[in-house]
Amino acid sequence: MKKTWNFSAGPAVLPQTVLEKAQQELLSYNDSGMSVMELSHRSSLFQNIIDEAEAHLRKLMDIPDNYKVLFIQGGASLQFAAVPMNLLKEGKAGYVISGSWGKKAYQEAAKLYGDRAIILADSSKEKHTLIPEVKEVPEDLDYIHITSNNTIEGTAYHEIPTWNDIPVVADMSSNILSANYDVRDFGVIYAGAQKNIGPAGVTIVIVREDLIKESNEIPTMLDYKTYVDSGSMYNTPPTFAIYVAKLVFEWLLDLGGVAEMVKLNQEKAGLLYKAIDESNLYASPVQTEFRSLTNIPFTIADDELTKQFLQEAQERGFVNLKGHRSVGGMRASLYNAFPLEGVQELISFMKEFENNRG
Ligand code: PMP
Repeated sequence: MKKTWNFSAGPAVLPQTVLEKAQQELLSYNDSGMSVMELSHRSSLFQNIIDEAEAHLRKLMDIPDNYKVLFIQGGASLQFAAVPMNLLKEGKAGYVISGSWGKKAYQEAAKLYGDRAIILADSSKEKHTLIPEVKEVPEDLDYIHITSNNTIEGTAYHEIPTWNDIPVVADMSSNILSANYDVRDFGVIYAGAQKNIGPAGVTIVIVREDLIKESNEIPTMLDYKTYVDSGSMYNTPPTFAIYVAKLVFEWLLDLGGVAEMVKLNQEKAGLLYKAIDESNLYASPVQTEFRSLTNIPFTIADDELTKQFLQEAQERGFVNLKGHRSVGGMRASLYNAFPLEGVQELISFMKEFENNRG
C-alpha cells in the first residue's frame, strides 16, 4: 500500500488503480499465460495494445486525422535533435527559451545546424519567472519551438500564441493531458511519458502529416517517416511502457478526460497557491499570470528553515519535494495522478510548520 505522497517531477506518481491493474495482469495478460513483458511486439495481443493506446490518446486530445501519433524511445531529449532534423527545410528554426529545457532544445538544434537555429525570446535574465514574449518573427522560419510547461521553473503557456502560419512545435512533457490545448494549434507536440502518461521509456510525438518530409539524410531511428510507415514498430518498441500508458489513458477516459483533469488540477494548484500567497513564510518565485498548474515551486527565505522543512516533510511522508538545484526551495509536482487529498495534507503540514515557528 502507498504510504507516501510523491511530489516527484518525473518519473512521477501513477494512478493507484493503474498499478493494481498492471499487477493483476502481470503474470498472465488477457489469459495468454504470458506477461505483457514477454509478448512479441509482432503478436496480435500487443498490436491491440498499441492500437488501443493510440485510439484512446486520439480521443482524449481530440487529435484530428491529419495528425500522426508516434511512439518513440530516447525521451523528450532525443526530440531536441529529431525536431530540427525532421522539420528544417530551407529556412531557420526559432526557439523561445522560457526555461532550462527550452534552452537545451535550442542548444541541440544549434549544435546540429549552427546559426540556422535562432533565439526569438529568452527569459534567462528574469530567471524564467515568466514566459517571454516574441517581439519579432523573421519570415523564413520553418517552425517555432516552445516549452508549454516549464517543469523546473513552474511556468506555463495558458494560451498558445500563433505566428502567422509558422508551425508551433511544443515540448509538452510536463503538461500533456492536463491542459486544454487544441492540437490544431501545433505542428508537432512531443512529450516524454514519465510525468502524465506512464513509466519512462516511451515518448509520444504528435505530428501534422504535411510536415513529415521525404529525406534520405535523417538517421532511420530519428526519422518520423520510419515511425509512420511502420506503425511505430520498425524495431522493438518499449512494450511495457506503452501498455501502462494505455491503462493510464483508460483511467483518464473513465474520469471524464482532459476537461475533468483541468478542473481537478485547477483546484489542486489553486489550493496550494492560495496557501503560499496567504502565508508569511512561503513565497512563489513565479509571476502570477504564468503559474503552472503541474509544477509549483515555492521558497522559504531562510536556508536553514528550508532544510528543516524538507526534512520534516520527508519524515511525514511528503517525498521528492526538493526544488531543482537551479531554483532551490521546494517544488510540488501535481500531475493528473496526484490526489487532491495529498495537496490538502501538504497544506496542513505547511501551516503547522509555519505556526510552530510563529
Ligand atoms: N522537456 C521537459 C519540459 C522536461 O520536463 C523534461 C524532463 N524532466 C525533458 C524535456 C527531458 O525529458 P527526457 O528525460 O524524457 O529526455
